[in-house]
Amino acid sequence: MEAAHIVVAGAGGNTGSHLLPHIARSPLVTRLTLIDPDSYETANLAVQNIDAADLGLPKVVAQAARLARIRPGLAIAPIQSRVEDVPRGLLRCDLFISCLDSRAARQNLSEIAWRLGVPLIDCGVLGGQNLARITTWTPAPDSPCLECAWDPADYALLDQEYLCGAERQTALPTGASSALGALAGSLVALELARFLCGETLPPARQAIFDAEHHVVQTTRERRNSECRFDHAIWHIDPWPASPSTTTLAQALRELGALRLEGHRFVSELVCPGCGRRENLGLRLNRPQARCANCDRRMASAGFGAFDHLDSTLAAPFLHLTLDQLAILAGDIVSGHRGHRQIVEAA
Ligand SMILES: [Zn+2]
Ligand SMILES: [Zn+2]
Repeated sequence: MEAAHIVVAGAGGNTGSHLLPHIARSPLVTRLTLIDPDSYETANLAVQNIDAADLGLPKVVAQAARLARIRPGLAIAPIQSRVEDVPRGLLRCDLFISCLDSRAARQNLSEIAWRLGVPLIDCGVLGGQNLARITTWTPAPDSPCLECAWDPADYALLDQEYLCGAERQTALPTGASSALGALAGSLVALELARFLCGETLPPARQAIFDAEHHVVQTTRERRNSECRFDHAIWHIDPWPASPSTTTLAQALRELGALRLEGHRFVSELVCPGCGRRENLGLRLNRPQARCANCDRRMASAGFGAFDHLDSTLAAPFLHLTLDQLAILAGDIVSGHRGHRQIVEAA
């Protein structure tokens, strides 16, 4: 590999902040996209690779500035967002690295990696037990995915996270020390170095480093024929359309229907806290709207959520442009005739 584009999700956290300088020092990495929705708070100083001047800054902004000082020529795209909300076409890259702690976000990134056919290194830490984990995933129809090992209890936890996600999407703090995050970050950086030298990542290999007892346990996940995820890798064609001028009517004429995997179109939202309702007309609930009264995340009301639009559902809204529906350049939309990607008109 001569020039690699790496996308790091959860870039500013306990592991990500320790990992990023290693990536910036890899000459074969020429493009780096950083994704993290949060900003630095005082509590982060104790466990993350930052200093007091970073407090209050979006994590991706603080880290991008640090990496630019390490390697001025590196092309860095900081995106302050949840990975779920980023148009998937902007995430096409050579390798994903996940330093996410939310189960829902990890599931989403695994799905994105498969759709785009991009390998993924996932890592995590468990502070109380001093465990650092690194897992490598290589998308293929017969290759195991994150969800292959999930059982109903895992999906129940996921549902719980979505429910609590009405408030906060991130998981509970892992209680991990700065040193444990640095260990996980180094393990990922070493795996990355092998990948950049042309080695294929071992599919579905998980290694857990027990820093308490200095023991390493390595396992391989198996492809589960009952897995809830379809494991499909998408063929994606360009679709020259401008979100600011293309109307829903034009899109439906071209595509037959309109769907964005991972998102739903909503018309009415309700606040789970104070019951306030808001009529949106029609748009993707992305990012999740917050209540103007109590700042809680709003959920769709009753039947007012659709996973796709056809000409019947969309009839009153055909004049709206794609960006009025919150569809952005880089989004991957699908219709009746397979998958297409929106690009800005030249
Ligand atoms: Zn699977
Ligand atoms: Zn409210």
